[in-house]
Amino acid sequence: MRLQPSRMATPAAAGLVAALILGIPSAGARDNLPRGRTASPIVDGEYPASFFPNTELLGAGEMRITALGTGMPNQTKRAVSISYYVELGNGDKFLFDVGSGALGNLFSLRPDFSKIDKVFASHLHVDHVGDFMGFHVGSWLSGRYTPLHLYGPSGATPELGTAAFVEGMKTAYAWDIATRSGALPDAGGQIEVHEFNYLQENEVVYQKNGVTVRSWPAIHSLDGSVSYSLEWNGLKYVFGGDTFPNKWYMQFAKGADVASHECFLPPKALAAYFGWDLAQATYVSTRIHTEPQAFGKVMATLKPRLAVGYHSVQSPENNAAIMDGVRAVYDGPLAIARDLMVINVTQQDIKVRMATVDDYVLPPDVTPGYIKAPRTDRKSPSKAVLSGKWEGYTPPPMPKRGQ
Ligand SMILES: [Zn+2]
Ligand SMILES: [Zn+2]
Repeated sequence: MRLQPSRMATPAAAGLVAALILGIPSAGARDNLPRGRTASPIVDGEYPASFFPNTELLGAGEMRITALGTGMPNQTKRAVSISYYVELGNGDKFLFDVGSGALGNLFSLRPDFSKIDKVFASHLHVDHVGDFMGFHVGSWLSGRYTPLHLYGPSGATPELGTAAFVEGMKTAYAWDIATRSGALPDAGGQIEVHEFNYLQENEVVYQKNGVTVRSWPAIHSLDGSVSYSLEWNGLKYVFGGDTFPNKWYMQFAKGADVASHECFLPPKALAAYFGWDLAQATYVSTRIHTEPQAFGKVMATLKPRLAVGYHSVQSPENNAAIMDGVRAVYDGPLAIARDLMVINVTQQDIKVRMATVDDYVLPPDVTPGYIKAPRTDRKSPSKAVLSGKWEGYTPPPMPKRGQ
């Protein structure tokens, strides 16, 4: 086991002391730093060319948005399904969607999972929530010892809403959850669902610690897709759910510092990519999604400080098709998101970089709070099954706990 409280507590405590002495922003100092490293503040807006996880202190008034997944349900190693990770200088962290495949990119950042307890789902397509249970269990195993909160829309009928999704997941993974209960912190195994009316228009979904998250409807496949805004410290990030261009986004995304919105492949490129006929590709690209020219029109009207397009698999041909479409109608600040693109946002500056991560990473260290959290009712196989242990093997004696 790697649980060694004395070693884990020291770097964070030292960082906090350093932060207090130097007067540098303290939020990052409370993060879970890799052993042997001290994160540094960014001086005079001079960011390194690449983002190396856990090496930079987030400024007290700064927001960092990391695209964990930007692709499609058909994934590639470089484009998994949708997820955005938002970190604030006050220490708060949020996930917007956690689509299938996104979890590996989150783990590659080695975050402090004790702080990631809020997921906001735009809708219940697998490319937006497919890694939800993987995230629940993975983060519970890796440092989260408080309940996980899932915020998400209702559906046209109760069984199509977020609460029903969570109940279904709990049922489907009953065996998994039961095996870990008692071995992992009790409270970390709980999911608290916050379902809200998908038709609500810019109403508050979450408000705490100076952070306000609002939602509004999106137009996509069935009722029950939404977009979100997150406002904090005079900064506004908008996470657009899958949608046809809609009037609510045009109204409520106004004033966004970073406005993300889907930017799907245009019909011809989509048809070529999937081998579909042009009618089907045109329907998908321009009726239930937003093709590049439509995305460009949205952004040309909204004029955010940075427009972020996502939701396609990038290739040289696809990139050209997307950029041609967007640039035909929008010439403002633009980032077509790729997995592990990092956006730092302050009042003065917006910096877009790529993260550099290892393919092989250790799980992050856990906090003393995680180690001490109560674990009750540990489970084991029945006597009937245990009686089948092969006598030809004797395991080594159990060391004392904590050694
Ligand atoms: Zn969708
Ligand atoms: Zn989607």
